Amino acid sequence: MASELEPEVQGLDRSLLECSAEETAGKWLQATDLTREVNQHLAHYVPKIYCRGPNPFPQKEDMLAHQVLLGPMEWYLCGEDPELGFSKLEQTNKPSHLCGRVFKVGEPTYSCRDCAVDPTCVLCMECFLGSIHRDHRYRMTTSGGGGFCDCGDTEAWKEGPYCQKHELNTSEIEEEEDPLVHLSEDVIARTYNIFAIMFRYAVEILTWEKESELPPDLEMVEKSDTYYCMLFNDEVHTYEQVIYTLQKAVNCTQKEAIGFATTVDRDGRRSVRYGDFQYCEQAKSVIVRNTSRQTKPLKVQVMHSSIVAHQNFGLKLLSWLGSIIGYSDGLRRILCQVGLQEGPNGENSSLVDRLMLSDSKLWKGARSVYHQLFMSSLLMDLKYKKLFAVRFAKNYERLQSDYVTDDHDREFSIADLSVQIFTVPSLARMLITEENLMTIIIKTFMDHLRHRDAQGRFQFERYTALQAFKFRRVQSLILDLKYVLISKPTEWSDDLRQKFLEGFDAFLELLKCMQGMDPVTRQVGQHIEMEPEWEAAFTLQMKLTHVISMMQDWCALDSELSPPMLIEHPLRCLVLCAQVHAGMWRRNGFSLVNQIYYYHNVKCRREMFDKDIVMLQTGVSMMDPNHFLMIMLSRFELHQIFSTPDYGKKISSETTHKDLVQQNNTLIEEMLYLIIMLVGERFSPGVGQVNATDEIKREIIHQLSIKPMAHSELVKSLPEDENKETGMESVIEAVAHFKKPGLTGRGMYELKPECAKEFNLYFYHFSRAEQSKAEEAQRKLKRQNKEDTALPPPVLPPFCPLFASLVNILQSDVMLLIMRTVLQWTVEHNGHVWSESMLQRVLHLIGMALQEEKQHLENVMEEHVVTFTFTQKISKPGEAPHNSPSILAMLETLQNAPYLEVHKDMIKWILKTFNAIKKIRESSSTSPVAETEGTIMEESSRDKDKAERKRKAEIARLRREKIMAQMSEMQRHFIDENKELFQQTLELDASISAVLDNSPMVSDTTRTALGPAQTPVPEQRQFVTCILCQEEQEVKVESRAMVLAAFVQRSTVLSKNRSKFIQDPEKYDPLFMHPDLSCGTHTGSCGHIMHAHCWQRYFDSVQAKEQRRQQRLRLHTSYDVENGEFLCPLCECLSNTVIPLLLPPRNIFNSRLHFSDQPNLTQWIRTISQQIKALQVLRKEENTPNTALSKNLENVDELQLPEGFRPDFHPKNPYSESIKEMLTTFGTATYKVGLKVHPNEEDPRVPIMCWGSCAYTIQSIERILNDEDKPLFSPLPCRLDDCLRSLTRFAAAHWTVASLSVVQGHFCKLFASLVPGDNHGDLPCILDIDMFHLLVGLVLAFPALQCQDFSGISLGTGDLHIFHLVTMAHIIQILLTSCTEENGMDQENASGEEELAVLALYKTLHQYTGSALKEMHSGWHLLRNVRAGIMPFLRCSALFFHYLNGVPSPPEIQASGTSHFEHLCNYLSLPNNFICLFQENKEIMKLLIESWCHNIEVKRYLEGERDAISYPRESNKLIDLPEDYSSLINQASNFLCPKSGGDKSRAPTLCLVCGTLLCSQSYCCQTELEGEDVGACTAHTYSCGSGVGIFLRVRECQVLFLAGKTKGCFYSPPYLDDYGETDQGLRRGNPLHLCRERFKKIQKLWHQHSITEEIGHAQEANQTLVGIDWQHL
Ligand SMILES: [Zn+2]
Ligand SMILES: [Zn+2]
Ligand SMILES: [Zn+2]
Ligand SMILES: [Zn+2]
Ligand SMILES: [Zn+2]
Ligand SMILES: [Zn+2]
Ligand SMILES: [Zn+2]
Repeated sequence: MASELEPEVQGLDRSLLECSAEETAGKWLQATDLTREVNQHLAHYVPKIYCRGPNPFPQKEDMLAHQVLLGPMEWYLCGEDPELGFSKLEQTNKPSHLCGRVFKVGEPTYSCRDCAVDPTCVLCMECFLGSIHRDHRYRMTTSGGGGFCDCGDTEAWKEGPYCQKHELNTSEIEEEEDPLVHLSEDVIARTYNIFAIMFRYAVEILTWEKESELPPDLEMVEKSDTYYCMLFNDEVHTYEQVIYTLQKAVNCTQKEAIGFATTVDRDGRRSVRYGDFQYCEQAKSVIVRNTSRQTKPLKVQVMHSSIVAHQNFGLKLLSWLGSIIGYSDGLRRILCQVGLQEGPNGENSSLVDRLMLSDSKLWKGARSVYHQLFMSSLLMDLKYKKLFAVRFAKNYERLQSDYVTDDHDREFSIADLSVQIFTVPSLARMLITEENLMTIIIKTFMDHLRHRDAQGRFQFERYTALQAFKFRRVQSLILDLKYVLISKPTEWSDDLRQKFLEGFDAFLELLKCMQGMDPVTRQVGQHIEMEPEWEAAFTLQMKLTHVISMMQDWCALDSELSPPMLIEHPLRCLVLCAQVHAGMWRRNGFSLVNQIYYYHNVKCRREMFDKDIVMLQTGVSMMDPNHFLMIMLSRFELHQIFSTPDYGKKISSETTHKDLVQQNNTLIEEMLYLIIMLVGERFSPGVGQVNATDEIKREIIHQLSIKPMAHSELVKSLPEDENKETGMESVIEAVAHFKKPGLTGRGMYELKPECAKEFNLYFYHFSRAEQSKAEEAQRKLKRQNKEDTALPPPVLPPFCPLFASLVNILQSDVMLLIMRTVLQWTVEHNGHVWSESMLQRVLHLIGMALQEEKQHLENVMEEHVVTFTFTQKISKPGEAPHNSPSILAMLETLQNAPYLEVHKDMIKWILKTFNAIKKIRESSSTSPVAETEGTIMEESSRDKDKAERKRKAEIARLRREKIMAQMSEMQRHFIDENKELFQQTLELDASISAVLDNSPMVSDTTRTALGPAQTPVPEQRQFVTCILCQEEQEVKVESRAMVLAAFVQRSTVLSKNRSKFIQDPEKYDPLFMHPDLSCGTHTGSCGHIMHAHCWQRYFDSVQAKEQRRQQRLRLHTSYDVENGEFLCPLCECLSNTVIPLLLPPRNIFNSRLHFSDQPNLTQWIRTISQQIKALQVLRKEENTPNTALSKNLENVDELQLPEGFRPDFHPKNPYSESIKEMLTTFGTATYKVGLKVHPNEEDPRVPIMCWGSCAYTIQSIERILNDEDKPLFSPLPCRLDDCLRSLTRFAAAHWTVASLSVVQGHFCKLFASLVPGDNHGDLPCILDIDMFHLLVGLVLAFPALQCQDFSGISLGTGDLHIFHLVTMAHIIQILLTSCTEENGMDQENASGEEELAVLALYKTLHQYTGSALKEMHSGWHLLRNVRAGIMPFLRCSALFFHYLNGVPSPPEIQASGTSHFEHLCNYLSLPNNFICLFQENKEIMKLLIESWCHNIEVKRYLEGERDAISYPRESNKLIDLPEDYSSLINQASNFLCPKSGGDKSRAPTLCLVCGTLLCSQSYCCQTELEGEDVGACTAHTYSCGSGVGIFLRVRECQVLFLAGKTKGCFYSPPYLDDYGETDQGLRRGNPLHLCRERFKKIQKLWHQHSITEEIGHAQEANQTLVGIDWQHL
């Protein structure tokens, strides 16, 4: 069948291409029955274009559809070439002043917290930046898709409704101008015709439900029967299930299945098979069978291919309509008209209605296409917006029901449009009045909650999963109600009032069903069996919170209720809380505890706890205080206790009812607390004489009394209003200081000291934990300020007149009785009948009463009598029990009680205040009371006494604290002690080396790091301690090895070419490092030293432990033991090998240190060349088979061995076995990691990798020092210093464990790259060699040759000549590549000797390159370039020779400042005028330079055929990030997934190293890496960072570190809000700005190669990070 189809397809294409749009349109214009004509056209062509086999070709389809189908329509509509026609329409159009931009997923949206009418009013980025709101307080979020920009909507903004761009259009707008006036009659008529036909066609076909039959007018004459098996999306099955099922059902690969599943998830459907009916049906049945086990099966349909074709075109058509109406508001209006026109079937038959009502039956893709069309048409036209709103309201109930039963997310439902309609105040009011919207919403809501108990109350207790699912969806209705109520009406019409009242009735009905829903019954016998469902009821209550307050705003509630009835419900509730706290409901399980938690929680308390308190206050203020207190005592069931004289004594004699007594004590405490709240809580406007600001201020003061807090923490602890505002910004300055954050941490608010006096220990929003924390914090503060520690109640604002009588509770008889009773119990101090918190509360109440009386006295008007006489009442002795002492007397007794130490200060404060009040009273009356004087006198002497005692107590306390501190010090972990010990050793080491550096033993004149003139270094003995066994040992050649924990990793930090990739590591030759440094091997160490054998034992045990652990359950660890990873036993730093500690290796081999008469460079090169030649001949001999033995011997005889060269000599290895073993261990590890190959200690590349790692690590450290502007030899951190020293010495000693001939071979090849010899095949040209790597390789390989040389050339001479040779090659390299630009500055004639020399050198080069090199005339300029270019090389060389030979650095280079060029030259034994080098060795250099320049690559470079690295190489930086985070979000929102054609990426993630945006954490972009599927980020790390990556997850505002496939962590992002806080997850939406310091810190981690280490530490600290599948990100 397929073979027959192929030619047909091609034939068809041709006939399609020949179809002319203009001609077709012409035919249509003539047609009598246009509908029929068009339908025939579509019936003929649509299936030809859209159903062409199993896979869609979107580009081809679009192209053809435009040519054959849409083209004619455009021609028809315009009556001329559409290009002309549409541009004419566009010109005459008066554009809308509405922006209306429809948001894409992830696009940033902005809301102004000052001007938006409600939080749903948002602006697109462009409008926002052009609006006045950018300077206001704004909030930024990312859109979930759907919704549009409200710019230009005057109802959405209190101020500044237009941005600059849309403002322009407003001037021309006249009232309700009909946009059709700008169109010609003809165009109107034709548009109307074509829109009507096309819109109807699209609706018809999209809502078509038959699977194999087309609508009659689209039936084809010639019909080929092919089918699609169409798979639909649901929210029940997981990706994995779908993928698995598809593989089985349609026999596809996993890749294809992933592709299908991704499209199904994105578009809502995808055909998974194409063919005849049977073939498709078979796949369908497999899918259904496989997915129906636990859930309802996936939806699959076998559809006729022509239906699918027409549906695809239907969708195309809708988006086409959407774009056409963009040309003109007139066209838009016509489309609206067509859409809302009632069809032949009356009500609900308009096209718009039909689409809405089939919404839940359509697949995702179809829904979003038509939703977008609605938004760009109906919602953008002022007239039709209203009409549409009415249709929406009329269908509201049905749409919501559809939504509730559907399983798609709300953003894919038409119901979600409610936010666009209901939040427009005029529309909302119109809908309330005309469509009774409020009632409809509430009734619909109630309808969906049918589960009621016998009393008709909601019953959530035994909800099934399905009911719970429905319940979650129903909640969106509450949101709708909220939208409708958001803006309060400015004037009420009769209609509005009536409809509102009707809605209110319905709402009361709803509240009635909630009142007492899910009541709780105290379980006294058994513990309940099952935790009841309580969350639903609470969610409902929480969701309604704002609606209730909004309802209250809309109307004033007036109900006539008697006070005792008013207080009944709230009181019951509060008593319940008290009882729970007293442990009386313990058997009722956790649900009750949870409910009480939420009752007080900041999210709910406004409508729960707070309202109950106000309600109680209202009731009580209307009652006699004694009456109220009696009710309270009885509700708390404490009546008995306080009416029984001697209760205390009785109880203490009985010992049986301990639990009961305890319970009663708690209840008394709770009751006292409640009284404190009733009298003290006056900060709700209306209750006390305060305003809203005072209320919020007080909340903040109390939160900050607990501890200083960050902005977000504070926001979380404050209640939000319906606009998500706390009102905090307006008052925070008044009560708190802001402390800016450092490099880590967050900005903090600290309470201003003067606000501390407003602290109320019994603040009603404190939880118990908060209360005790606050108490402790405040007492501590007072102690620090050397004040007494009393925490008296604050001075309160007066009550409003209606509530004024509340204060009388404090001086009521019952209250006084309670106070006296509690004090009495305290005085008696017997057993468990009283508690300290009981007393503390009584003291607080007394304090409140005193404050109250004092206030009254101070504010009293003349001639008025103060009726608040608490002081008098407490001075009187009590009546019952018989003649008990007065409250005052008891307090005086108690202040000396030894068991009340904590409360002494408070009692003292009470007595002092009491006296102060007395004084005020006396001064206002005439008769002084002598008695008072006495009391005061007494008081003061008592004061002294007390002060003394207090001082002693304080001393005792301090002593106690000191002992405690000592104890805890001693308890610190063993390893900590070791750590300290060790650090001491380290510091000691450091100080020793510092002393040595300046020691007089080294002459201060000029220090020279290398060569025959090297400054002699006295031998240093080094003692180190093993961190594992604590034994000290000297580092010696023959002793046991000591090692440093080390971490070797591949690195691209210095890379200048990230696209390079080693194809086959097994065959890769690393001998020459390319100057692009594309991939290096870095070695780092934490600097911790162990015995090699101690380390081996430790590592073996870690390995064994891991193996055991993995057998049991495969737990992840932060390190990969199988890969040789372990954590440093001391600092837990990630390591994967160890470096042996060695003495300077040169001293060992250079026993013949003092030579006279050393060869010059020319002689040396000649000698070495001879030696190399000899070796090569010998090597050839060895490799030829034995049969030719005699001949070989002859050759050897003939061979002229250079004088003193003994190639048969093999030096003895001086190192101990253990050191040799460690040399091999580290070498092999470097080889394994650096090349990513299996370990093989015999591989000839091992020594190369060791030298390479040494060179690369030095280069990376040189860059760090340079970037941070630190002097080269500034004191490095110990760990770095130790690491570099060990690494260099190791690399220098490694040849002793490698094969001598291999190392010699490497040397020969390296040498030949500069001094050409025979037989070396292809060597890189000097443009392609990193000279520092070459230098290190040559110097470190040289001993392998030199050890066989007995001619008297010293190692130092070799070093010096190698160094000079490489330096000259580097200068040539720089001259060739880096001297291209010559600035116009006229320095030409100022010609120093050096400048002339360099100019001459350049001229020589010019000559050798056949004049291909650009001409330069400025010696000054050349010299400057060379000096700048060579500097990094010289600095690296200085570090290298310093660590190799141990010559202390000259003090000049240790200081920062100038470039130290001369000092460097001196230290490196280089002439200051380094052009001299060339002149001194004129002859040989001439030859060499010529050979370098003649290389073909040099020629190609100079002719512009290839690139080369120029010098100095610039340091790599992380990419530049924008200052404003929203521009990043915007950038990411435009980012399309590169794999799934044109789809938005869900987790766009930015590589901070190279700036690539990736589609992370998604199936679409998974790729295979080493046989495993990995996410885009992990895949990217392999190409960009050789396994290490630094990313910014843009939607989450989170930095992601990745290393390898299993390691990762999140890191705090470099973006902060104005409060110095990050916003990971973008939950708060405050504007975020780049913090450069933090970004630098991330960059530094990268430069230092510390990313992996950072991940290790994060994973060790937080084990949950280990379990994340990092490779899928
Ligand atoms: Zn906009
Ligand atoms: Zn705008
Ligand atoms: Zn604003
Ligand atoms: Zn040890
Ligand atoms: Zn360590
Ligand atoms: Zn990258
Ligand atoms: Zn993707």
